[in-house]
Amino acid sequence: MNCIQELSTLNERYDIHPQAILKTDLLRRGLRFSENALVQSAHFKEKSYFIFSFDMVEQKELTKSERHSAPEEIALNGGPLDFSRTIVSVRLNPNSPYLVEWKDDHFELYCGEEFLAEVSLNERPAYYKHNLKNGKPVSDIAPTIEWGYLIYLTAFRVCQYWGEKEECQFCDINNNYRQQKRVRSYTGVKDIEDVLEAFEIINEFDTERHSTAYTVTGGSITSELSGLNEGQFYAQYAQAIEDRFPGRWLPKAVVQALPLDEVKMLKDSGYQIYHPNYEVWDPKLFSQICPGKDRYVGRNEWIKRIVDAAEIFGASNVIPNFVAGIEMSQPGGFTSVEAAVKSTREGLDFFMSKGILPRFTVWCVEPNTVLSRTNTEPAPLEYYIHLLQSYREAYIEHAMPTPPGYGAPGLGKAVFSVSAFMDVLPEERPSQSFDSNTHNYSSDNISPS
Ligand code: SF4
Repeated sequence: MNCIQELSTLNERYDIHPQAILKTDLLRRGLRFSENALVQSAHFKEKSYFIFSFDMVEQKELTKSERHSAPEEIALNGGPLDFSRTIVSVRLNPNSPYLVEWKDDHFELYCGEEFLAEVSLNERPAYYKHNLKNGKPVSDIAPTIEWGYLIYLTAFRVCQYWGEKEECQFCDINNNYRQQKRVRSYTGVKDIEDVLEAFEIINEFDTERHSTAYTVTGGSITSELSGLNEGQFYAQYAQAIEDRFPGRWLPKAVVQALPLDEVKMLKDSGYQIYHPNYEVWDPKLFSQICPGKDRYVGRNEWIKRIVDAAEIFGASNVIPNFVAGIEMSQPGGFTSVEAAVKSTREGLDFFMSKGILPRFTVWCVEPNTVLSRTNTEPAPLEYYIHLLQSYREAYIEHAMPTPPGYGAPGLGKAVFSVSAFMDVLPEERPSQSFDSNTHNYSSDNISPS
């Protein structure tokens, strides 16, 4: 079956638009660029390796131009299926069937000989042209993703869950840090003064205010880092940014499911959105795939902390991520698409019934992860498309609001680039804020002032 036929078949079976299906497949299988395309893409916004590698080969297996000239994201447009703008994070894979080619003065996407879509790239923003005083590029300290919408601040590029008995088995954060250090400026622990300087540069040169939110995240801190526990460590960044630029961006924290006192610390420092990721719903798979989290916290306590965080942030501002597809990884994962989606849907219904809206990223098999030893392929494309359908169905059934901090939902509007969940949601709905005094929800879209 050719690629367009497969998109059409899945579209008919699951009522998911072909552009969301293609986006998903590009994320799960990666893409490659011709040499001519890389020569041209070098003029655009480059891939910053904002936290993990997300590539399907190591840096040393890429050519120099792939390492330094591949773009952060591509946007699909037009083509035989008349796509509206679809933004996709770039995950490099020299063996991918998907190729971006430079033809007649523009970029095009192919699968084999089949032309799929026009491709456009994001301009290199003015703030990427100004280094910090210490010479570090803004793209190291405060890169932007999601077509410039989100500043992604990985404050700590290492995780204290260390080695295969503790690290999440799909995650390459520690190994990625080691490989990136050899090829680009890549700061392990970000100094707050450097962060403020980078934000100052963005604020000055992002005159049209494309950057709207920032995420502070990084590896887990199981003991202390610079004498601070995880809540204290990540709180200091929002505190400093909000003191200097009050309300300029919407602050979000992606950290562990923390005890309530640390969650409160995060809220008091200025964060408005809390992402305590739960990775995978099935209890057996959670302990197998996230052995560190299982041993230090335990799955039941982990889930309880996510639910309890709604008291502090308001349910609709607690947005836990799961890594879609790892529930089909082997050994031990589900072997049928139906069973995998059924398990994950159970988790969606659990959280959504409490007003908490999970979101997901698409798992790809990165080398240097434990799962790459036993998995050469991610979950089947059909799993992801069935999941998108089930996710949208649960979202509608539970009457969930549009998640704050993700930009607009819908085809042609979504900017979230590492899964198509925002592409398939219906039109914008008001977020609900939670009043912890009255324990009531009220409509109140959260956005930076
Ligand atoms: S907690 Fe797990 S997913 Fe998060 S950085 Fe550490 S190893 Fe990676």
